[in-house]
Amino acid sequence: MQHSPRHRLYFDIILGFLVIITVFAVTGQEQILEQRLEIDNHSGLSLNVYDDKESGGDSSIYLDNPGTMEWHCILRDSYDFPFCGFEILFDPGRTKGIDLTHYDKLRVWLDYSGPSQTLRVYLRNFDAKYSKKEVKQSTKYNQVEFNVNMLNGVAEFSLRDFFVANWWVFDNNIPPHLSRPQFDNITIFEVQTGSGRPLGEHHFRLRKVEFIGQALSAADWYLTIMVVWLFIILGFLGYRIISLKDEVVVQRKRESELMEINELLDTRSKALELKAKKDPLTGAFNRLGLEEAFSVGLYDWRNNKKPLSLVMMDIDHFKKINDTYGHDIGDLILSKLSDLIHQHIRSQDLLARWGGEEFVIVCRDTDIDNATALAEKLRGLIAAHEFHKNIQVTASFGVATLNTNENLEQLFKAADTALYEAKASGRNRVIAASAG
Ligand code: GH3
Ligand code: MG
Ligand code: MG
Repeated sequence: MQHSPRHRLYFDIILGFLVIITVFAVTGQEQILEQRLEIDNHSGLSLNVYDDKESGGDSSIYLDNPGTMEWHCILRDSYDFPFCGFEILFDPGRTKGIDLTHYDKLRVWLDYSGPSQTLRVYLRNFDAKYSKKEVKQSTKYNQVEFNVNMLNGVAEFSLRDFFVANWWVFDNNIPPHLSRPQFDNITIFEVQTGSGRPLGEHHFRLRKVEFIGQALSAADWYLTIMVVWLFIILGFLGYRIISLKDEVVVQRKRESELMEINELLDTRSKALELKAKKDPLTGAFNRLGLEEAFSVGLYDWRNNKKPLSLVMMDIDHFKKINDTYGHDIGDLILSKLSDLIHQHIRSQDLLARWGGEEFVIVCRDTDIDNATALAEKLRGLIAAHEFHKNIQVTASFGVATLNTNENLEQLFKAADTALYEAKASGRNRVIAASAG
């Protein structure tokens, strides 16, 4: 699970969407959470009308057309407070109503003509604390009374504007703590003629009632948004932890791979470096390798007073070998001779090929006597060795040591002179340069 640029792009896009959604959720809170409850003549609820005859009056009400919620009534002058009213029953049994606590507005589409200055709307609440099933009047009268002018188009009320009718509190002997408006079990919506004595003929046509509210309070809504974000962040953190773990594993693997490659390159470059200092035919050092050996030897000679000697060696009559056996055999002998010498010199001695069939041995920490002894030992070994099917060779040696106030050139010259002497005096021998 690497964090590729594509992954990161997806993540940014998702985050962007979430932020946009959040902005909408916050600014459009009212529209998103809005809930509506509509009641009209298609809602299939029971309808009912009543007048003041039960209270001793003489008014009459007529439900004109139940299908369209139209009624009219004639209020007559035989009761102190003549009235007539229309009911929409949420429960025909008048006990199991609807909970309107999450609604805060009421809209009423009502046509009215008649002598009333005001009209009343009741939202009747049934609660066993004060209501009895058998007593119709015992449901609470949440009431609003308004001027008929409000009915131009649609009349809108806030449920907070409702109050509980005084006469109901009085008639039912309701204690103060139960006399507040209450909407948790509304069983009836009612329209009634208003206060005063509006005698005469009243015509009503109710087209629609609508309750508008919020499914969640603003506080709950913000809390929900916060909880959702909390989960998103937790999810993202979890994802990060898992992918970081994976990344660490991949990173470690890459590091160890790099280390391996570095080691390989290191060994390889050391090998190349060594190769550059060696003669390919014999495996002895070339002049470059020789220089390095001298730099170490000279340092020890100068600073640690360690003797530094040089053995110069030239194969005797090598031209003849080539002429007799061919150049390839000559090469083979050169290579085998180098091997033989390598087997018998010490680790501080360095063999280098100086020219065609000429070799030098740099002997660090070795005085002239020890260098001469080494040369003598090698001379004997070479002379006794069979290099190839009965082919034997000898070599001549010149030995010199670096004296105080001398330079390398003088050392080489001294060894060369000694070698020349060895050749001149019959070959297959060792001559040590005389001191000074
Ligand atoms: P001496 O040193 O005893 O005086 O006689 P020599 O024949 O060895 O002397 P010289 O120096 O005249 O000849 C050296 C010969 O070594 C010449 C050449 O043919 C041969 N030689 C030099 N380098 C190589 C090489 O790399 N391979 C072979 N096969 N022969 C070589
Ligand atoms: Mg030679
Ligand atoms: Mg020679």
